[in-house]
This record gives sequence, C-alpha cells and structure tokens, in this order.
Amino acid sequence: MSDALVARMRQFGETIFAEMTRLAAETQAVNLGQGFPDTDGPEALVRSAGAHMANGVNQYPPGLGRPELRSAVAADRRLRFGLDYDPDSEVYVTVGATAGIAASVLGLVEAGDEVVVLEPMYDSYAAAIALANGVARPVTLRPDAGGTRFTFDPAELRAVVGPRTRMIIVNSPHNPTGTVLRRSELETIAELCREHDLLAVTDEVYEHLIFDGAEHIPLASLPGMRERTLAISSAGKTYSVTGWKIGWVMGPKPLVRAVRTVNQFLTFTANGALQLAVAEAITSQQEWVQQQRAALEQKRDRLATGLARAGLRPHVPQGTYFVMADIRPLGFEDGVELARSLPHAAGVVTVPAQVFYADPAEGRHLVRFAFCKQDPVLDEAVRRLEARMPQPQGT
Ligand SMILES: *Cc1c(COP(=O)(O)O)cnc(C)c1O
Repeated sequence: MSDALVARMRQFGETIFAEMTRLAAETQAVNLGQGFPDTDGPEALVRSAGAHMANGVNQYPPGLGRPELRSAVAADRRLRFGLDYDPDSEVYVTVGATAGIAASVLGLVEAGDEVVVLEPMYDSYAAAIALANGVARPVTLRPDAGGTRFTFDPAELRAVVGPRTRMIIVNSPHNPTGTVLRRSELETIAELCREHDLLAVTDEVYEHLIFDGAEHIPLASLPGMRERTLAISSAGKTYSVTGWKIGWVMGPKPLVRAVRTVNQFLTFTANGALQLAVAEAITSQQEWVQQQRAALEQKRDRLATGLARAGLRPHVPQGTYFVMADIRPLGFEDGVELARSLPHAAGVVTVPAQVFYADPAEGRHLVRFAFCKQDPVLDEAVRRLEARMPQPQGT
C-alpha cells in the first residue's frame, strides 16, 4: 500500500521535523528545532478553560464560533488597526490558523489557479494549494543590502503574477525569516492585488511577537484591500498555547462564507471552552502579551549573540520566535548535513531551512533555531554549540 496516498500529496511525505524530533529524543539533545514554547500561557487563561469545561461547556459550539470570541476579535481589530468586521458574518472561528488557511485555499482556489507565496514558507501553504489542485508560485525572500533582513524583489513578485493568478498568501511577521513587512513592501503587494484583482490571505499568527519597535500592519488596512483579504490569526503563538488550536478568519462576508462552506465539512467547529477562555484573554491579558513580547526580544538577543559566538551568522529577526543562521562561516554548505550531525556532536537540534523552499538550493546554507525557550535552555544550547561544533565532512 506504499502508494495509497493520492498523487497530489505524494511530495508531502514525512518531514524533516519528524526526523529531527526523533533525533532529539534519541540523543537527549536541547531541541531548538520545534517552534513551541516550553512554558505555559497566562495562568488565568489556562484556569479559565478548565473552569468552562467543569461548568458544562462541552458540546458543539455555534458553527461560526462562540459569539464572545467573535466579538472580542472584532473589537481588538477595531481598537488596534481601525478595521471594522461584523462579528456575526465577517469573523469565523477555526481549528487554529492552519484550518483557516486550508479552508480559504480550498474554498477560493480553482484547479489550475496559481497562488503566489513568499518563500521560505510555512509548510502548510504548499500542501493546501496542492489539495486544491492549485499551483504554488514562490517568490523568494533574500537578505537585503544590509545582509540581515530578508525581503522580496518587487520585480520578481510582479513577474510571477499572470492571468492564472488567483491569490497571494502573505505571512508577516514571517516564519522562518522573522521579517516584519514594512508599509512600502505591503503597498507593492496591495498594488498588484488591485491591479490583477487578486485575493489575499494574510497569516498574522505572530502579529504580537514583534521587536525593536517594529509595527505590524495588516494588509487589509491598505486602500482597496479589505474587500479582497482574508486575515487569519490565532491564539497559539500570542498566548503560548500552541496545542489549543483556536484560530480565526476575518474578511468580507462573501469570502468568509466560502471558507465556512468548506470548513463545515472539515472540522465544523473548534473547542468551545477554549474559545471562551481565549475571548477573555484577548480582552484582559494584553499586559501579559506585552511582557511576553519583551521577554522574547531578550531571548532573541541571547540566542543570536550566542550563535554568533559559536561561529554562525544569525539573521536577527524583527518578529516571530525564530532566528535563521548562515552556516557558511563554519565551513558548512548544507544545512541538512549540519542538522543531522549536530544532535550527536553537540547535543542540539535545529531545522535545516531548505525544507521551507520550493527549490532547496535557495536555503541550503541556512538553519532555523527557535528561541521561545527558557533562558537556561538557550544558554545550555549555546554552551554546547561553542564547545562541540562539528567539523564539515568536506565534499
Ligand atoms: C504556527 C504557525 C501557524 C499555525 O497556527 P495554528 O493556530 O497552530 O494552526 C500558521 N502559520 C505560521 C506561519 C505558523 O508559524
């Protein structure tokens, strides 16, 4: 039964993530590969979820999501960005951002339609596009003239948009590069969307995790974009509850209806007790979010400084909780080779960045580290890397 899987999904076999997780367990390495925090979210949030379950919130919530959460999401968007969404028809709760993205693509992309994506990219985009029988058209983010911040070449972006282009998926703050797209960059994207009548799906799950005073600007807030954009976010990264899988989609009614139509047959609804707890957190835990943001900024500096000491060249991110590092200063060329030897040699796990690219050659010299870990864990990883960095095998 080795080829039982449908042809359009065969390129998505076991990922390097599974291999690295296994290696981490086998070698008892410090795991900076996986992107989840090793501490819980706000205590009140976690307690509230339990209390709602104990109080009988255990059956199917409404198909659109709990009204408390939809109202909290809409009020938050209005407060922070001046964007108005009707909580009863323009906000829709999904099982994490992942389900929202998949249902958006499945509900709006016809077979053969092209979807522009910025790469390196979050792995679920390509899979959702393939499930829809669409065609992914990657535009590669590369370090700018300063050598640190990743961005796209506007000419390259323009060149991939054609008559079959239906949608662009924009992730900012961007995993794995840590780039927070600037207004000028978003203007370029918006202009193309208006000119070619494209839909936009924005993945904003790291909207709160931004550093150095950078500003998160929703693409939907640019002229002519609200009516063609599905903005997607979730609680997992903001409140350090990645296992909860509570996300939301915001957009104009016809687009949200398309997402709902698909998603009602995929997951239908998301856990109601968790939705209520997240609604409360959106209203009452913004101070915790700010403290978390500040703590992550320090962790970023802690890890980036340490990686540089260990001989890597980190690309210091403006957002998310990942840092990409160039391995060439150590004499390595291939991130897979380094990532496979690092757990045994140094007892540290990282992820080779090439898995985030359509053409692996683009990201061959990069690995990604997560810094959403406790300080002693980060320090131990750095100590090991400084002491026991492996030597390149040579060619
Ligand atoms: C983690 C992550 C997601 C998934 O969010 P969930 O709410 O857990 O589904 C989506 N996009 C990006 C870029 C991520 O890093």
